[in-house]
Amino acid sequence: MEQALQILKRNKLSITESRQVILDLFFEAGGALAHGDIESNSKVSFDRVTVYRTLQTFVESGIIHQIPTTDNTILYALCKDKCEAGHHHDEHIHFICIDCDKTVCLDEVIVPLVKLPKGFKSLQTDMVIKGFCDECKN
Ligand SMILES: [Zn+2]
Ligand SMILES: [Zn+2]
Ligand SMILES: [Zn+2]
Repeated sequence: MEQALQILKRNKLSITESRQVILDLFFEAGGALAHGDIESNSKVSFDRVTVYRTLQTFVESGIIHQIPTTDNTILYALCKDKCEAGHHHDEHIHFICIDCDKTVCLDEVIVPLVKLPKGFKSLQTDMVIKGFCDECKN
């Protein structure tokens, strides 16, 4: 709870129960969470709209970032300190375990700069590695 409070204060967000509880879930998970995980996990039940709005606020404030997946669900993971409101720096690679679906941010691995054809403008680069995590190896 303490960690969540500090993040809300640092980002000048008003402290609400839903924001605190949802942030806590991210700290507990230590990895990425989908919208549905948050709804079903919550100790206090929040309706879809509350969860959706809270996640949007966190994304806009540079607290969490989105990770696209192949099945069109969107995962969210905590950002590192260098993200700010409206300005994310999450060009790292994500690892997805195809067995347990755990998604991990590989913060140390920066997506390589891809040279685009003349006149093309990149907005976002998503790179995903799929395989087995340390608990599902083989
Ligand atoms: Zn970010
Ligand atoms: Zn796994
Ligand atoms: Zn990430």
